Amino acid sequence: MIRENLEQVRKNIADACARAGRDPSEVILLAVSKTKPLEMIREAVAAGQRAFGENYVQELTEKYEALGNSVDWHMIGHLQRNKVKYIIGKTSLIHSVDSIRLAEQIEKEAEKKDVSVDVLLEVNVAHEDSKWGFTPEETIEAVKTVSAFPHVHVCGLMTSAPITEDPESNRPYFCELRRLFDTIAASAPEHVDMRVLSMGMTGDYQVAVEEGATLVRVGTGIFGARDYGKHD
Ligand SMILES: *Cc1c(COP(=O)(O)O)cnc(C)c1O
Repeated sequence: MIRENLEQVRKNIADACARAGRDPSEVILLAVSKTKPLEMIREAVAAGQRAFGENYVQELTEKYEALGNSVDWHMIGHLQRNKVKYIIGKTSLIHSVDSIRLAEQIEKEAEKKDVSVDVLLEVNVAHEDSKWGFTPEETIEAVKTVSAFPHVHVCGLMTSAPITEDPESNRPYFCELRRLFDTIAASAPEHVDMRVLSMGMTGDYQVAVEEGATLVRVGTGIFGARDYGKHD
């Protein structure tokens, strides 16, 4: 089932790219494997999937122990500062840098391990009270601040749009984030490399690709619905 789902998602991405006049090779598919067992990840790997997204530090480190760097691990969930030390050196990309204090903590731990950490700044583009992230207004300044941290490498922006039945209702948010991304890219400080625009999940990734996403985060559409019991 996972192989078929992956094929379908890849096809949907290619179709969305065609509608937008984009090259599908510009879009990375991140398979969001949170709460899902190793066997399902292995099945996805066998079907050619390379990048996996996790939300919880403990789950990410357990899966890392088992699979190591044979796949690319992305941290996409809210990250507490006291847990940063457990994932430094294990992630290809941390999508969820939502405060300067968190970026400072990443800098500190990365310096200790003498590694450079690729990150995205999370933007709360819909100004939802329930969501983490910088407001669009704060983001430009935040990129500048974080760009001064020698071991933290800003690679772009990420957003989680509102959960909705109608993906079209998120189009304005994706469009706004794309504009902000382009604005920052046009005058990016040294040491900032704006190449990843992480937006779109199972319900709305096709719209996100039409609006310029270079990375989509798809969980349910690949692995099926999640059972959150063990995390509550
Ligand atoms: C869980 C999660 C996803 C994947 O959600 P689906 O709707 O299952 O595709 C994407 N991004 C973030 C930040 C998530 O927490």
